[in-house]
Amino acid sequence: MAHVVTRFAPSPTGWLHVGGARTALFCYAFAKRGGGSFLLRIEDTDQARSSEDFTRGILVDMAWLGIAWDEGPAFTDSKGVRFGGDPRSVAPFEQSRRLDLYNQYLDRLIAEGKAYAAFEKPEELEAKRKAAIARKEPYRYDRAALEIPADERARRVAAGEPHVVRFLCPDEEVLVVDEVLGEVRVGPGEVDDFVIRKADGFPTYHFSVVIDDELMGVTHVLRGQEHLYNTPKHVALQRALGFRTPKFAHMPLIFNMEGAKMSKRERDQAARKAAKDAGLSSSPTPALDDASFGVWLNDKTKQLPPEQLEPLAEALGLLLPEVTVNDFRRAGYLPEVITNFIALLGWSPPPEAGENIEKFDIGFLVKWFDLGRIGKSNSRFDRKKLLAFNTDAIAAMPDDEFARRWREWCEAHAPAIASQITGDAFTTLASAVRPRCKTFLDAAEQGRFALAESDRVVYDAKSVEKNLTKNEGEGLRVLRELRGAIAGIGRFDAASVSAALESFAESRALGMGKVAQPLRVALTGSTISPPIGETLAVLGKDRTLARIDACLAAHA
Ligand code: GLU
Repeated sequence: MAHVVTRFAPSPTGWLHVGGARTALFCYAFAKRGGGSFLLRIEDTDQARSSEDFTRGILVDMAWLGIAWDEGPAFTDSKGVRFGGDPRSVAPFEQSRRLDLYNQYLDRLIAEGKAYAAFEKPEELEAKRKAAIARKEPYRYDRAALEIPADERARRVAAGEPHVVRFLCPDEEVLVVDEVLGEVRVGPGEVDDFVIRKADGFPTYHFSVVIDDELMGVTHVLRGQEHLYNTPKHVALQRALGFRTPKFAHMPLIFNMEGAKMSKRERDQAARKAAKDAGLSSSPTPALDDASFGVWLNDKTKQLPPEQLEPLAEALGLLLPEVTVNDFRRAGYLPEVITNFIALLGWSPPPEAGENIEKFDIGFLVKWFDLGRIGKSNSRFDRKKLLAFNTDAIAAMPDDEFARRWREWCEAHAPAIASQITGDAFTTLASAVRPRCKTFLDAAEQGRFALAESDRVVYDAKSVEKNLTKNEGEGLRVLRELRGAIAGIGRFDAASVSAALESFAESRALGMGKVAQPLRVALTGSTISPPIGETLAVLGKDRTLARIDACLAAHA
């Protein structure tokens, strides 16, 4: 097989979506399986919507997922791992830096009479479009610009009149052979004279993608099915330019469990529902004023920016549904779980890889990846299953690895935990929460009791009644005695504390529950905390005693 080159070509108009990550992963696996190269190209020709922050975000997310690009923007991640470069001299990889190249090919098409300038204003085109719809006809550009004599067109362009350049699409059938979907035929005249250079001088996506796939030697274009109906345009352009046509494979779309497209809109929907369920009529967060809150609450189409939506969700105690890679990272998912899970969206391992294999790493995917096993129908993104995968992966992780990786995560996403819980206390907390948590975020929630802000314990009334005040303060009596026993413990590590509490329980002929539960309520306000020895060890002796004293005083 000739040297395989695949490319992932995101537009940096937002954070990397899980659907984009799946495309990138499949491009990577396909290239690597054939010993080829995987290239990353940044399609930033939409000047208004692209940003360097989003470009950087894409590089960070791809590196985090371990989808390493051989060619593309050079990038070094926080661990010093390098990505990208330009071994075949096909740079630059950002389309905004390739305008001269596009213009060379564009001039050639114009000179050959295969493209032409058109001067209609957007309003004129819109009126024509509406008229076609009113006539119940499909809208196609009517080639009005071609009625203008060529020399006059050239003169108007030279005089600087705003214009676009359109491709004079030949009246012939276009056949696309898709490796997943089979043949797609588009009849003569069905592809209209689409724009290839916008009025701002930037090429359109259709044009730059064709030039770059050729110049970068791309052999296989793997992308989402949403691009299927762009492909005939690309094939027609490739023919007009005398280029080869790469092989195409369009991946199934990814929907959520409700059958809708996974998009940022889902996050607003979830928050709106939670706000309505809570019966809110005013904004629960200073990040959003009451008037804007009211408008958003009653208009299903409104979307809040993250700096308002996230505090709102927090005030509602809601975890927003994750959509981008960065959402999943912040929510405490493991990158290897994400790549495993998204690999299954539209692909499954062949039977010879083993029976019903669902859990695998990127190496396995590269070994077994094959376009023949890509499905045609839409895939469902099952968040519950992803959460179960993540929980299993954390449960299978050695304690020291979990402590190291969770600490790194806390440094970025839960700085209070990272700065306040350090050394042995952190290691103790990590091994206590690991078997009980689903994500790093969940682990951080479980560790919250040990933060300084939790020294002022908020007591849950039911837990207090059941474990402290019931039976004429039985629990409080135990707690009072326990205080003395705890004050006498020498080494305050989890094992020593547990042993001391057990011998205390034994000496009073009490079950461990009668000792541990009042203590938990005193230390954390509720009966939910890591194992009791660990809970005390993480707090340390002084804070344990202080919280017991505060509890006794509050319930005297
Ligand atoms: N920039 C396009 C996108 O982000 C790339 C499509 C393609 O792979 O050709 O959707």
